[in-house]
Amino acid sequence: MPTVVHLRQGAERVLPVTVQRFESGEVQVESLRVTRFFGTRMVLASGPVSSSGRSPGTPSNYVCQIAFYGVKDLNAGPSVNDNAGVRCSCQGYRFYFDFANRKAGASHGARFTPYVRKTTTIPPKNPDQIPGACKHLLTFIQALNNSDFFVEKKRRQ
Ligand SMILES: [Zn+2]
Repeated sequence: MPTVVHLRQGAERVLPVTVQRFESGEVQVESLRVTRFFGTRMVLASGPVSSSGRSPGTPSNYVCQIAFYGVKDLNAGPSVNDNAGVRCSCQGYRFYFDFANRKAGASHGARFTPYVRKTTTIPPKNPDQIPGACKHLLTFIQALNNSDFFVEKKRRQ
């Protein structure tokens, strides 16, 4: 199952433009909430993000969710090498990565309502079905990296 590192690499292969937009800093994380599920060893980070580089007529606010599965020590935090399941409410995520991530076990939360193409067909936007992340999720992952969220970061302090 993919990790956040794999999802970043997938974004670079499938949608380099979203990586450029992420790197240009056009997405801001508005707030970040972390929930620990001790029974299932899952840590869920979620929160709203906003984007300044949007095309006219499209919404600027989305919700990102990143779940880390099988976390060894929930109090210490997830590892960057833990399996991650993601979801973003934007159209880019839905069309490029929802299907691929679901298939790879890297998806979190409810299925998007199917669009015109049946989900049994290969989405044309990502024909190799490479799991990945949109610019909102990449920004969200970076915000987690910059905080003391990951256990690797805590060890360095
Ligand atoms: Zn997104």
